[in-house]
Amino acid sequence: MSNDEDLWQHIPSYAWVALARRGMEKISLDQCFLKGCDNEDPKLLEPFKKEEFEDEKKQVKKIHIKCNKCNGVFQLKLETIKRVAKPTKTGKDADEEALSMGMVYALDENGKDLGHIGYF
Ligand SMILES: [Zn+2]
Repeated sequence: MSNDEDLWQHIPSYAWVALARRGMEKISLDQCFLKGCDNEDPKLLEPFKKEEFEDEKKQVKKIHIKCNKCNGVFQLKLETIKRVAKPTKTGKDADEEALSMGMVYALDENGKDLGHIGYF
């Protein structure tokens, strides 16, 4: 289904999870985030709806995904914090500060927060 393929384009393949002392760990977003489900097969996941909105500070995309293993529905919420201009900074510090950052959250079918997954 071509419609599904379009929605996958909005989902980053990986998110980075901060570990307490060992830096960052890469995890795949091609998995079901519902409790008690261990589906990690993207073929059993069907993104079927996208919502998108933004304000001055961030852009938010919500992708609704059906899991064909547990038959549940969850949402991936992708938040991109817009870069804030910092005209007082110069040099290499300025470049690092200017990077826009994305955060990804898992929500259940009704939009209840299942937790912060990581960064993308
Ligand atoms: Zn599932």
